[in-house]
Amino acid sequence: MSRETFYDKVDATLDQIRDDGLWKTERAIVSPQAGSVEVDGVGKVLNFCANNYLGLANHPDIIAGANQAMAENGYGMASVRFICGTLDIHRLLEQEIASYVNTDDSILFAACFDANGGVFEPLLGAEDAIISDSLNHASIIDGVRLCKAQRFRFETRSMDDLRAQLVAADAAGVNTKLIVTDGVFSMDGYVADLASICTLADEFDALVMVDDCHATGFIGPQGRGTPALHGVADRVDIVTSTLGKALGGAMGGFVAARQNIVDLLRQRARPYLFSNALSPAHVGGARVALSMALEADDRRAQLVSNAERFRSAMTTAGFELTGQSHPIIPVMLGDAKVAGDMATQLIEHGVYVTAFSYPVVPMGLARIRTQMNASHTDAEIDRTVEAFVAVGRELKVIG
Ligand SMILES: *Cc1c(COP(=O)(O)O)cnc(C)c1O
Repeated sequence: MSRETFYDKVDATLDQIRDDGLWKTERAIVSPQAGSVEVDGVGKVLNFCANNYLGLANHPDIIAGANQAMAENGYGMASVRFICGTLDIHRLLEQEIASYVNTDDSILFAACFDANGGVFEPLLGAEDAIISDSLNHASIIDGVRLCKAQRFRFETRSMDDLRAQLVAADAAGVNTKLIVTDGVFSMDGYVADLASICTLADEFDALVMVDDCHATGFIGPQGRGTPALHGVADRVDIVTSTLGKALGGAMGGFVAARQNIVDLLRQRARPYLFSNALSPAHVGGARVALSMALEADDRRAQLVSNAERFRSAMTTAGFELTGQSHPIIPVMLGDAKVAGDMATQLIEHGVYVTAFSYPVVPMGLARIRTQMNASHTDAEIDRTVEAFVAVGRELKVIG
C-alpha cells in the first residue's frame, strides 16, 4: 500500500465512525472539576459524568498537599523509579495504600491502565491460566494479551460459568489459576459477587485479582473497596486500582498484594520499569486524598443517599436503569443515536452527561451513564431528573 493510500484509509475509518453515529466529541471545561462545571460555549452545567465520587477533585486540602510536595520535591522526577525516581513519599504512599486495602505492600504505576497492563506477564506463564470476567475493563484485556497464560473467559457475574471455566482450566492441566474481575463493572454499575468468587477460588485453589477502580475510596467500610465490603479482603490476592477516580481524580494506579508479588513486579513489570515515576504533586495530593477517604463516612453516606434519590426518581419517571447499590446509574436507551441525541439535549437543559455506545458497550445497548457524587445537592439531583424527564418525553423514551 502506498503512503497516500494509507492516509486515505485512515480518512475512510474516520468517516465510518461518523456514519455509524459513534463519533466521540470532547467538550472543553473551563473551570475545576466539580459537581457543576463551566463548559466552553455552553455555560455552567451540572456534572453527572465524572468519576469524582467523593467530590474531592478540587478539594483545597488535596491541592495544598500537592503544592507542598511540589514545593519540597519539585515538579518532575525525570526518571523511572529504579534509576533515580523514587522519593520517600512514593514509598510512604505505597505503604499507605497497602494498609488501606489490607495487603503487605503496593507498587505505583502511572495509571491503573499500566498497573493492569503490567501485572500479569511477570507472574504467569504458558503453563498457567487466567479466568477473566467477560466485562472486565479494557486494560485487563490488554494486560492478559501481553501475558502467555492460557485464557478462559466467564460470562459476566455468572458463578456457574466461572465454575465451568475453572473445571476447563483444570482439565487443561494448568498450574496456577488466577480469577480476575472488576470489583465494580463500570458500564453497568454492578458490584461483583466477591464472596462467591472467593468460595469458588477456595474450592479450586485459585488466586483472585480484583480491579477496584470504581470502588476504592467509597465502597465498603472506610471506602476500603469491594473485598472489604464482602469481608474477603484476606482472601483476595491482588488488588489493582486508580488514584484517578475517587481519590482526588488526578493520576496514578497501583497493584497491592503480598510482599513477594510486589517485589517481583518491581523487578519485572514493564510499565513500572520503563515509564516515568509519578510526579511529586500527584503523590502529595494522593496521600492527602487517601487520609481524607479514611475519614469520609459523611461523604460516603451522602453519596449513597444521592444515588438512592436519583435511582428512585428516575425509576418512578419510567426510565429503564441498570446497576445496583452503586453511584454509577446507567439509563438504558438501546439505540446509539437516541442516546447521543439525549445527551446533547440534556446539556442544553444544563445537565452534562455522556452517551456510551459500541464499542464501549455491546451493540444495541447504548446508554447514558450517570454518576453521582457526594457534592451534589438534593436540588441538583432533582433538577437533573426534571431535565431527563423533559428530554425523555421529547424523544419518546418515556411516556
Ligand atoms: C478507570 C479504570 C481503569 C483505568 O484507570 P486509570 O488510572 O485511569 O488508567 C482501569 N480499570 C477500571 C475498571 C477502570 O474503571
